Amino acid sequence: MSDSPVQILIPAKNLPGDSNPASTTLREGKIFTRSFTGRFRNFRLLGAGFLTLLFFGTSWVNWNGHQAILWDLDTRQFHVFGTTFWPQDFMLLSYVMIIGALLLFAVTMVAGRVWCGYTCPQSVWTWAFIWAENLTEGDRNQRIKLQHAPLTFSKVFKRSSKHVLWLSMSIATGIAFVGYFVPVRELVQNLAHLEWLSSSAIWVGIVAALTYMNAGWVREKVCLHMCPYARFQSVMFDRNTLVIAYDAARGDARGSRKKTDDHKALGLGDCIDCYMCVQVCPTGIDIRDGLQMDCIGCAACIDACDDVMDKMGYDRGLVSYTSEAALAGEPEKILRPRLFGYGALIAIMLAALVVSLNSRELVDISVVKDRSVLYRYTSDGDVMNVYRMKITNKTQQPAQYNLKLHNAEGLSLSRTYQFTLAAGEVYDFPVTVEMKPLPTKEAGMVQFDFELVNSAAPNLVTREAANFMYPAQ
Ligand code: SF4
Ligand code: SF4
Repeated sequence: MSDSPVQILIPAKNLPGDSNPASTTLREGKIFTRSFTGRFRNFRLLGAGFLTLLFFGTSWVNWNGHQAILWDLDTRQFHVFGTTFWPQDFMLLSYVMIIGALLLFAVTMVAGRVWCGYTCPQSVWTWAFIWAENLTEGDRNQRIKLQHAPLTFSKVFKRSSKHVLWLSMSIATGIAFVGYFVPVRELVQNLAHLEWLSSSAIWVGIVAALTYMNAGWVREKVCLHMCPYARFQSVMFDRNTLVIAYDAARGDARGSRKKTDDHKALGLGDCIDCYMCVQVCPTGIDIRDGLQMDCIGCAACIDACDDVMDKMGYDRGLVSYTSEAALAGEPEKILRPRLFGYGALIAIMLAALVVSLNSRELVDISVVKDRSVLYRYTSDGDVMNVYRMKITNKTQQPAQYNLKLHNAEGLSLSRTYQFTLAAGEVYDFPVTVEMKPLPTKEAGMVQFDFELVNSAAPNLVTREAANFMYPAQ
């Protein structure tokens, strides 16, 4: 802890072009975010760093010789660690998305905007781009000065370096993202061989351009004006939801002082009015103005203010996580009825997901009866019905199948149907079912099932209902 006078903690407040130094009403123009350290920043670095590694690394992981996670848009198959999901499995994806949304709602109700502040890609990439800006152009005050400096070689060099770094990060993001939809190794090879006019290369360009714009230029405006989740999440808040707030009772009256001053005797609170909390804020607001929609809950102001409090020898927590209830002196409740409601819904959806996963067929079978003729006769005088059958091997391994009839007394297949399908292969073929003529005065119909048996695992049986039509004799 330094013993120097507190004035060293008070930065220049009105550098030219500074949009967030002393006034929170200045919302136009560029925000120059000050770099800072602290426990919440470390927590974000850890969490966001892990998620970023997952994002960039997962598409490169192979599983049984295939890309572990790949949403193949051409074949409309979604491969996840050896399991393939087909368009018919869309319901499973819906369950996963609903569970994710409910989890997000529950977390938001308890902990406020932690998604926005710690894990939202817009925030994570914006912090990464601010880091690149800091690396190439210097910290906040140097960047403000550079903004207004005349065009010199040094300025051009710094600006160009920043944009080269931003563009590299954007292109890497584009490749990583598109690599979940086309095989990533193939994609990188094609890009390296300058095949830049393919649709996947164009998509890399589009994602890179959006990343460059959103994280480099638009930044907090996405959160403030474009993000729909930011608009409706206040509905999930209640009086016990964690928010980041300034303790006005402790901090006011604000004012600068020497560290050695007895500020209470001077009629001052703990806030030294240094504006550090404002200068680290990525949305450029002053948390001391009260709870605001524009606060994304990143906790940068907590880290900055805790640092100031440490230097002043005051207790931490002038800006802190709290709740409206705590601010009003009411007892805080973590377990609330709505939380149990979310928990029950999540449990129901999880159960539905598990049941659907367990009952999921690994082979898809569809049968259409030949509608042009109800029945025909074989050369032996038997009645015969013809069907069009389509079978899809939904696994990632080749499989051999036997086609049989089930609950089909008096019916038989015209021949043996045994075939092998490659992983993901679709087999479309005609099937003929026969019956000895029945001595009946009325035409009729027999209901039966086609039964497909996996030769390697006879307990894997898939059935599909069908009708057999016969004439009066
Ligand atoms: S007010 Fe604090 S928590 Fe809110 S966005 Fe600004 S720095 Fe982050
Ligand atoms: S709240 Fe903390 S960081 Fe913000 S101006 Fe006051 S002392 Fe400085």
